[in-house]
Amino acid sequence: MKSNMEILDIGEVHIKRPTLLVTGGRGLVGSQISSDIKTNSSKDLRNSQICDDLFFKEKPLNVVHCAARVGGLGGNMSMKGEFFYDNIMINTNVIESCRKYGVEKLVCFLSTCVFPDDVEYPLTEKKIHLGEPHNSNYPYAYAKRMAEVQIRAYREQYGLNYVSVIPTNIYGPHDNFSIENGHVIPSLIHKCYLAKKNNTPFMVWGSGKPLREFIYSKDVGTLTEWVLENYDEEEALILSTSEEISIKDVVNLIVKHMEFKGEVIWQTDKPDGQFRKPSDNTKLLSYLPNFKFTSLDVGLKETIDWFNENYKIARK
Ligand code: GDP
Repeated sequence: MKSNMEILDIGEVHIKRPTLLVTGGRGLVGSQISSDIKTNSSKDLRNSQICDDLFFKEKPLNVVHCAARVGGLGGNMSMKGEFFYDNIMINTNVIESCRKYGVEKLVCFLSTCVFPDDVEYPLTEKKIHLGEPHNSNYPYAYAKRMAEVQIRAYREQYGLNYVSVIPTNIYGPHDNFSIENGHVIPSLIHKCYLAKKNNTPFMVWGSGKPLREFIYSKDVGTLTEWVLENYDEEEALILSTSEEISIKDVVNLIVKHMEFKGEVIWQTDKPDGQFRKPSDNTKLLSYLPNFKFTSLDVGLKETIDWFNENYKIARK
């Protein structure tokens, strides 16, 4: 990594210029990246003036952009307008502020939901724009697709070394454990926690058959630091284990680590979402053939331990 602080020599004036700003720095991914300056949800990056002021004040040389209005299947389906507006504004402002304030390297987070619903599997970096995203989250998906477009356009017009990455479903400590609006793993951990505490059944949405690829937030943090230093291509980079697991098997692992002995109820009237979205990590492994991903078993245990220890302060 570059040194934490570089001194810019502008004539007589020496300006201290911190090298790395992480937007969404206290969140799931941002909390795994070490840096001097982090924004959290109190900074309203939807507002271009606030965003510009931040860049003017901090003068970062590098930026990792993780901030987003995110949610699981529930949040995406019930707040479509908000998810579109918030994300398109945040991304547009952050990328433009990077350009205006001379950021040299930007790593921008997309998501696997950017991919078309109806497309030949596995998903590769070349397939982002080949059709409509899944109906359950198309506003979020299109806003993220536009970040990819903005970055490509800025590379072409301004010659900037800005890149984008596409992680699959991320989980880990510091996630949003909201039951209604969280992603599947944090929602289920929270629900199982309450079911155990209150001696009630553990309610799970859908059939349990859909398949997902999960990646541990610590692995995403490590890979992001590698991308910052080493990945300079125009094409986005998929960050994925390319290992699918059914929601049913995820539930079994959560039940095991939470030591839950009660009943599990499958609410088949709740949505399953997309059946699967397998991704191809060939490109990532061509750069990092020996990268050791954390197993879901180990990552889930650490996440559950974190949630149990931090129940009071966890976002939920
Ligand atoms: P997705 O990968 O974008 O669809 O988002 P999620 O992380 O929300 O995963 C959704 C999958 O998990 C669907 O198959 C849901 O039916 C299933 N699921 C089961 N229980 C829950 C739950 O309590 N919350 C969420 N978000 N999903 C659940």
